[in-house]
Amino acid sequence: MQVFSQPDVPRPLNEELRLAELHKYKLLDSESEPDFDLLAEIAADICEAPYAFISLVDKDRVWFKAKSGSSITELARNDDYCSWAILEDRILHVPDLTKDARMANLSKTLREPYYRMYCGATLITKTGYRVGTLCVLDTRPRELSQRQQDKLVRLAAHVVTVMEGRLRDIELRAAVDDLNRLATRDELTGLLNRRALTQILEQEVQRSRRFQTALSVLMIDIDHFTKVNDTYGHAVGDIVLRGVADVVQAGVRGIDFAARFGGEELCIVLPGTDEAGAQRLAESLRHAVASALFRDAAESVRVTVSIGVAALASDANAMIGTADLALYEAKARGRNRVVVGHST
Ligand code: GH3
Ligand code: MG
Ligand code: MG
Repeated sequence: MQVFSQPDVPRPLNEELRLAELHKYKLLDSESEPDFDLLAEIAADICEAPYAFISLVDKDRVWFKAKSGSSITELARNDDYCSWAILEDRILHVPDLTKDARMANLSKTLREPYYRMYCGATLITKTGYRVGTLCVLDTRPRELSQRQQDKLVRLAAHVVTVMEGRLRDIELRAAVDDLNRLATRDELTGLLNRRALTQILEQEVQRSRRFQTALSVLMIDIDHFTKVNDTYGHAVGDIVLRGVADVVQAGVRGIDFAARFGGEELCIVLPGTDEAGAQRLAESLRHAVASALFRDAAESVRVTVSIGVAALASDANAMIGTADLALYEAKARGRNRVVVGHST
């Protein structure tokens, strides 16, 4: 096979910043999207050209976000016309590629599909970086009219508008995810917070009663935690609390919900688990915590937990109340134990 080794296309002076700007859009290697495909098709129609692309000029490659008339996904940067186009102000029009020293030896001029005409309007971001092109190509040499070129430039500006809108959507979605996480997660342990858990439990109670499936909750409290704080300090207390949360999270199934319910009190909702299953899980969590060693640079601490178990009741409050009473009883009976509560 013939190997085409192309000389380097000059890089723009602001190359580093230009690449950072391009990457900000998170478009490279993304799936094709109808909005962009349509703009490439319109460009081909306006210019009466068999091929059109929305190209993004990355560090060492030119990647095509949209293509009309071709299925190619990318080309080496030194082997693509668009790498030259982004060095121009707004547009690069080459009516006969065989007569242009920069492009006569590019592989797509020399081989299939034997391009002869190239016209690329640069994609200029709001901040002024040329990140790619909206370009059209033909296999016969020809001159595009001024009107076609003007339209291509305006359409390229619209491509950038669509890119900006898409980026805003991505940022908005990320912000909503952040807010959701802040609203539902406990910062110290990463578990759900009390409000989120209460909502989930209310829904699960309704679901279980409607479909007659099992449901249980565990209320877990660290034993003598005040002593941990008093002996080692609050910072070590936090490490222990986070460690217990990790042990508990690792010990439940993917469909269970683990929350920090209060200070050092955790609550687990177990959909589909009956009282006996919940008791078994509670025992295994109790063992797992008791055998874990929580440490920072200076200290290593062991703790135990007491656990109250409650099975499905009339509503979420009743279940929490029963689990709380059972937990209280576990404490009264000497701690480091599981007590199954009975609804009154
Ligand atoms: P018991 O065995 O009866 O549960 O004894 P206890 O000392 O654990 O008593 P209790 O559950 O009432 O005490 C909770 C303690 O947990 C008091 C509080 O200072 C501490 N605590 C609550 N939240 C945090 C926290 O976020 N970090 C740390 N380090 N301590 C906390
Ligand atoms: Mg406690
Ligand atoms: Mg407590």
